[in-house]
Amino acid sequence: MKLIKQITDLNKAINKENELGFVPTMGGLHKGHEYLIKESKKKCKKTLVSIFVNPTQFNNKDDYNNYPRDLKKDLKILKGLKVDFVYLPTIRQIYKEKKLPKIILKKSQRILCAKFRKGHFEGVLNVLNRFVKLISPKIMFMGEKDYQQYILVKDFIKQIYKTSVYPCKTIRDTNGVALSSRNVLLKKVDLKNSGLIANKLIKLKRSLYTQDRSNSIGLKKSKILIQKTKSSLIEKFNVKIEYLECRNLIDLSTDLYNKPFKLFVSYYLNDIRLIDNF
Ligand code: AMP
Repeated sequence: MKLIKQITDLNKAINKENELGFVPTMGGLHKGHEYLIKESKKKCKKTLVSIFVNPTQFNNKDDYNNYPRDLKKDLKILKGLKVDFVYLPTIRQIYKEKKLPKIILKKSQRILCAKFRKGHFEGVLNVLNRFVKLISPKIMFMGEKDYQQYILVKDFIKQIYKTSVYPCKTIRDTNGVALSSRNVLLKKVDLKNSGLIANKLIKLKRSLYTQDRSNSIGLKKSKILIQKTKSSLIEKFNVKIEYLECRNLIDLSTDLYNKPFKLFVSYYLNDIRLIDNF
C-alpha cells in the first residue's frame, strides 16, 4: 500500500494506471466504505482511496471541527484490504488550482439536503471535480447511503470527464441503521433509536409500494401514510425531522406516477443529523 501526500508523488504513482478505481472518503472508515473499496477491487485493476475532510462542504464549523478523525485506525483498515494507493492531501494542495469554474446548483437540484445544507453539494462537487481532474479514474465508487449526492455527482462528472460513477448499496448495522462515520457521535440510546427509526421507515416504504400510484387518490394516500409516520416518529423518539418524502429514483423529481421511487429522510436525534433512504 502506497501512502501519497504530494501531488507530484500522486502523478508519478498513477500516471500509467488506466484502470484505476477511486473511492473518495472523509475517513472515519467503516464497513460501508469497505464495501465500496471491495467493489473497486473487483471492477478495477488498482484502487486508490482518498481521505480528506473537505472543509468547503461543511455548512457548520462545529460539524467540521467535530467530524470523527482516526487516521491510524483508517490506515490499518486500508492495509488489511490491500488497497494500492492512499491519497492524503492537504487543504492547500487541493485548493491550489484557482481557475476552476464556480459550481451553482440548478433550482430543481435545491431539494432534500440541498435545501437544508446551504453550499454543501457545491462543496462536494467542487472537491470531487478537483480529485477527478488529478486522478482520472476509470470508475469512481459512491454509496447509495448518500443517494442525492450520488445523483448530483454522476450528472456533474459525466458532463466533463470519461470517469463513470458507480453506485454501491447501503451497508447497515445489525439493528438496521445505515453505517456512518458520524454514528460514533451518537449516544448509545440514540444509536438504538436510530435503528428503530430505520426499521419503521423500511416498513413505511413497503406499505407505500403497495399503494396504487397510477392515480392521484393512491398518491394522496401515500402522503397521508408518510404524515402519520412522521407524527409517530416525532412523538416516540422526539426527533426533529427536516424532511421525509418520496422522490423519483432516476431524477429525484416529484413525478411518482407509476415510477420507481425512494423514500428520503433527514432528522436530528439530539444534535446529531442523520440521513438515510429506502
Ligand atoms: P464519507 O466518508 O462519509 O464522505 O463517505 C464516503 C463514501 O462512502 C460516500 O460515497 C458515501 O456515500 C459512502 N458511504 C458512507 N456510508 C455508507 C454506507 N453505510 N453504505 C455504503 N456506502 C456508504
